[in-house]
Amino acid sequence: MNVWIDQDLCTGDGLCEEICPPVFHLVDSLSYVIGPNGQPMMAGGPNSCAEIAPAMLDAVLDAAEECPGECIFIES
Ligand code: SF4
Repeated sequence: MNVWIDQDLCTGDGLCEEICPPVFHLVDSLSYVIGPNGQPMMAGGPNSCAEIAPAMLDAVLDAAEECPGECIFIES
């Protein structure tokens, strides 16, 4: 499973980072997925898609469900 964020819809509330800080990180009030190198993938959008570690899957699903912008996308 992979996760990406549509930054155009992100409200910047930071809920995703609160729920799952190993996967989501806010920069200038927008959330980005953290890439394999441990840094947020600043290009954003569907091209900044990262594989979800199995141990993180429940938290990522929670974040997507709680996201007020409905902009966290999880794909197989
Ligand atoms: S929970 Fe959604 S809207 Fe809020 S900061 Fe994260 S991606 Fe953006």
